[in-house]
Formats: sequence, structure tokens, C-alpha cells
Amino acid sequence: SAKASGRNCVHLFDPSDPKSGDDSEAVAALLRTAIDRHLVSLVYQPIQSLPSGRVDAVESLMRLRMLDGTDVPPSVFIPIAERTGAILELGRWAIDTVCQELLSNRHIAFATVNISVVQLRAPGFSKTVEDILHERRVPGTRLAIEVTEGLDLELNSEVLRSIGSLRQLGVRIWLDDFGTGFAGLSWLRLIDFDAVKIDRSFINNLSNNRDVTMLRDIIELVRNRGPQILVEGVETSEQMEILGNYQVDYLQGYFIGHPRPSANVGAIIAPQALQMSNQL
Ligand code: C2E
Ligand code: MG
Ligand code: MG
Ligand code: MG
Repeated sequence: SAKASGRNCVHLFDPSDPKSGDDSEAVAALLRTAIDRHLVSLVYQPIQSLPSGRVDAVESLMRLRMLDGTDVPPSVFIPIAERTGAILELGRWAIDTVCQELLSNRHIAFATVNISVVQLRAPGFSKTVEDILHERRVPGTRLAIEVTEGLDLELNSEVLRSIGSLRQLGVRIWLDDFGTGFAGLSWLRLIDFDAVKIDRSFINNLSNNRDVTMLRDIIELVRNRGPQILVEGVETSEQMEILGNYQVDYLQGYFIGHPRPSANVGAIIAPQALQMSNQL
């Protein structure tokens, strides 16, 4: 019951309904067979490259559907998958699926896959990626992994070795959600990221000068260390205009495009985003 599971309880359903199975055990059980039962899928959100304005990359995002058709948000099921270890199998499936999608969409330069630290710590993770790339005949350079700074993260030697081996395959290493945790700066100090995604909280609210200055300072901090810069969560033309003042390499957000079931983003790019970027 919800009471018994205490803090780990996730309220997927109406908590006032005593019949609704609202704890993480239901999700954990589902995750064990989710791939076979086609309950997991990937959606692809477009990434716009600057200065060309081309939308030639995507981020893959995982989705989980319950048997009754309800969607479970990644913020709920990813931590459960990490705790139970299901993330290893799901992660392998995701990379394989992304590779197939890259094969059928040759105009997509690269796709990113979110990877949790549990995967980076797992022995043989880079070998798994190598095998998939080899089997699918996808060059490593068409794949980027996104790692998120986590509070509890130890940047131990396993993680660093894993990242080093992936890089040898040509796989790009991106830092996701930069600025949300305390670990971001130490990550940036220890790893040569190919790109850094500035968290959308810095662009959400640019209503006053302090917010704009903060965004500018963060962009400058990252740029001075060398990685490319992506700003995520771009939703409005006003935000696009402000970003026009800074040199960023990639844009992502609902203004550019929402996540879609296919990586074939050529057809889904918001025309106004393309037009705006021509003026940047
Ligand atoms: P993330 O990697 O930072 O992904 C960005 C999240 O922001 C996505 O939510 C996306 O749908 C949402 N988003 C994109 N553009 C906008 C925008 O303009 N405005 C707003 N308000 N939101 C926007 P989603 O798909 O719910 O994913 C949440 C998180 O779950 C991801 O954050 C990522 O950390 C994790 N995740 C998703 N898929 C995977 C996966 O395959 N593996 C792992 N390990 N984690 C995943
Ligand atoms: Mg991400
Ligand atoms: Mg992100
Ligand atoms: Mg995020």
C-alpha cells in the first residue's frame, strides 16, 4: 500500500482511489518486461545547430506506458529503473533503437542518448555501446551521451574510464542540465565535455536584468572552458532574441520543436524558429 511504501511511494494514480496501485513496486515490476511488451518507446526532440540554423540533430527521450494506457513520466520511472538495475537493459535497448533510427534518417547528423551514472559505473558499458555501434554499423561520431550532474555522484575511476572508452569510439560526451546541482563545476573541471546543455531554469524566466546577466555569465563560464554550448528549454521568440546576443552552438526547446515519435525531424521544425535563427 501507499502507507507501507512510505517515501518511495509514487502517486501515479488518484491517491483517493484505494484500488489504484500507487507505489513504485508496480512500476518496478512493469519495467522488468516493458521492452518485450512494447511498453517503452523513444521520442525524439529536435536540436537546432547554429549558425547554419539546420535542425540536424535530436535528443532521444524515453517513454513508459502502463497497461491501462497511462504514461509514467521519466522523472518517476527512471529513478526506479536506476534503483532496480532495469536501467541497464533499458539503456542498451535505447542505444540500439537510436542507432536504427539514425540508419533510417541519414540527414540526422547525430542523436543524443541520456545515460545515468548507474550505466557509466556498470562494468562493460562502453563495450556494450561498441558492440551495438559495430552491429548496426553506425559510426560513434553520430552518437552523443548526455550525463547529468548528480548530487550523490562520485566521479570515480570507473566513471572516468567508461567516459574515456566511449570517447575512443568517437562518441561525444555532453553534460546535461548544467547549473542545477553542485557537482557541475567539478565535472567541468575533470572531464573535457564536447558540449554542455545549459539547464532550462536559466532561460525560463528572463524577466529582469539579473536573470539575463546570470545566463550570460554561465554561457561565458562554459565557453571559456572550451565545450560547445546548447541552451535547452527555448519556448518563445523573446528568448530567441535574447539568445541572439550570445554565441551558442545549439538550441532546443518547444519553440524549435516538441519531442516526436520519429527522428525524422526535417518535417517538424517550427518555421518561425528557422526564420529567427537566420537573423541570429
Ligand atoms: P532532460 O534530459 O534534461 O530532458 C529534457 C526534458 O525537458 C524532457 O522531459 C523534455 O521533454 C523537456 N523539454 C524539452 N523542451 C522543453 C521546453 O521548451 N520546455 C519545457 N518545459 N520542457 C521541455 P522528459 O522527456 O520528461 O525527460 C525528463 C528527464 O528524464 C530527462 O531530462 C532525463 O534526465 C530523463 N530521461 C529521459 N529519457 C531518458 C533515458 O532514456 N535514459 C535516462 N537515463 N534518462 C532519461
Ligand atoms: Mg537530456
Ligand atoms: Mg536537459
Ligand atoms: Mg533536465
